This record gives sequence, structure tokens and C-alpha cells, in this order.
Amino acid sequence: MKSFPLGKIKGIQIELHSTFVWLLVLVFIFLAIFASDILLQSFLILIMLFFSVALHELVHSLVSVSRGFKVQKIMLLPIGGVSIMDELPTKPKDEFLISVSGPLFNFAVVLAVILAVKYFSLPFPPEILNGNISLETLDAALLNYPLFAFLWVNLILGAFNLFVPALPLDGGRVLRSIIATFLGFNKATHIVAAISFYLGILLLLIGFFSGNVVLAIIALFVVLGSRQENEIVVMKESLAGKNIELAIEKFGFLIRAESSLEDALVEMNLRNKTAFLVKLDKGFGYVDVGKISMFKKSQRFLKTAAEVAEKVPEISLNDPAAEVLSKMLSKGYPVLPVIDHDFLIGAVYLENLQKFYELSRIK
Ligand code: ZN
Repeated sequence: MKSFPLGKIKGIQIELHSTFVWLLVLVFIFLAIFASDILLQSFLILIMLFFSVALHELVHSLVSVSRGFKVQKIMLLPIGGVSIMDELPTKPKDEFLISVSGPLFNFAVVLAVILAVKYFSLPFPPEILNGNISLETLDAALLNYPLFAFLWVNLILGAFNLFVPALPLDGGRVLRSIIATFLGFNKATHIVAAISFYLGILLLLIGFFSGNVVLAIIALFVVLGSRQENEIVVMKESLAGKNIELAIEKFGFLIRAESSLEDALVEMNLRNKTAFLVKLDKGFGYVDVGKISMFKKSQRFLKTAAEVAEKVPEISLNDPAAEVLSKMLSKGYPVLPVIDHDFLIGAVYLENLQKFYELSRIK
């Protein structure tokens, strides 16, 4: 799905996922129909949430960069932000500092609002100041006092992320980094993933029975996300110490750059492949069934493989199999070129690497 670039900070591209825009439009329509009297106030709170999520994620990314990691971009999704990094931190200290920084930033915002209200006597809900806090006074305070709404949004964002000890939330990462200092990263991941799974189910039930859709969505995200993190660790354990050599395909993986897509399709049938590498002016790219199927037959005769190919990184013979597999899975590459002393010596197909992994799991 599409995303919209918002800008670049310290080399980190910030993008807004299209589902976020759709959500804003839907919420706006919903509010306009069912709650037109509080339309602007509610929408303002949503914008504040968006802004706070973006800053929260940016702080994570800036700390990641300061710890020596490369952050490609930040994607803003309706359920929060995701930093897209080349590699994830596995050292406890790195993971702890990166994870804790986002929520701490939100708490710093809360503190700054409190201080600003105190020293500049800014408008703030008197019932909150008097300690008369109930659901009704809270609702009214949120709608009528933007500064309080900003404080509240940051408080919830920071607290939920830090104090729910479930992967892939910050709290889960903090817990993992603490356990990892004693038991190592892999064991810590298994433990926290198990906790996350049950906590996710519990949150899902609470969200379902209380009719809290946002909580249910986050719970689902926790259940699926924690399983995925665990799977990556299991994969790395099984493939530990192995390099890609045994999974390399030596023949039939390359197609001429000027071949038409229709030719590529014929070749795929002949060679029993679903993807090919293409030599580009600089480096390599790939075409696969998915890309070709986006064109009608008449267009497939006119477009060449080089025009459609998506660029891929090169890997070398000694690359650890686990790293290559997780890179292919996370970026969706079906095939990567293997380069040795500047020569293309073969290709690694995702399906071969997965087979290799399935076999190496058996002990
Ligand atoms: Zn975070």
C-alpha cells in the first residue's frame, strides 16, 4: 500500500501510511455525523496523538542512530509508528536505551506541560487541579482544554508503551533487555514472547468485552508481533554458524535485461522458477510472478525485465544464512545475487533458504 513522504530528519525519511489518511477521513466523517458538536475538539485530539506518536518514534530513531544503527525510515501507521532499520539491536544496553527513550520523551512532555501550566498560569481544567477526576470531568477536560488533552495523550502513550511488558511494544523490549543481561538475547526473547502471547490474549478479551476497538487491535498486534519476533530468533538459532553456501543456486537464475516480460514468463515455466535476477546498469534487480502479473498480456510484450526490475542488495559467500533469510523475509526479496571477488557466482532463492532452514531445525 502507498505511503506519503512527510520529510527527512537526520537522514531518516518520515512517511505516512495511506491507511492513516483513510482513518483520519473515516473518523472525520463519523464524528461529523454522530458527534458534530465535538467534531473539531475530537479531531484536534487525534492530530495531537498523531504528532506525539511521530515524535515518540523519532526519539527512538535518533537514539538508535546515536548507538550506531542505521534507520532508513519511520512509517506512521494508525496503531503507532514503526522504525524501519537495517538491523535490530540485540545488545541489552542498546535495546534498553532505544526502547526506553520513546516513552521517556512522552513523560518529559507531560512534565513540561505541568511546569508550563504552573509557571505561566495557562488554562487548565480546574476539576483536574482539584483532584476531582471522574469519567465525565475527564471527557469535558479533554474536549475543552487542548493543553490538558496534549498532556493526557502523551501520558497514555508513554505509560501504555512502557508498562505493558509485551513484544513488540517498548515495555516488552525493555523487559527483554533486562532478562537478556542475565540469560542472553535468545532465551530472553522466548520468555518475553510467551508472556506477550498470554498478555495479548488477555488484552484482546478485555478489548472485546469492553467494546474497546483500539485495545483489541493493539492486542492482536501484540499476539502476532511477539510470535514473529520469536520466530526470527528460532530461525537464527537453527541457522547459527551456517552460511548460505549450501543454499546457492548455480544456474538458470538470470534473465537478459532486454527480455520482454512475456519472455520472462515463458522462461519461468521452462525453468520452473517464480523469480529471476536481472543485470542492471548498476548492480542487480529482480522480476517475479507478482510484478509480471500486474501487466496485461499486451503490455507484457512491450515492457522489458530491466524496466520493471526492483533493485536488490548483493550478498557474499560468507554471509550468515540467518541474516540473509531475515533480510529476505523482512524486505520481501524472492532472490538475491551472490557475489564473490566481484563475480556473480550464483543466487539464493527465498524458497531454498526456507527449505534449508526447515532441514536444519531437525535435531
Ligand atoms: Zn515506542
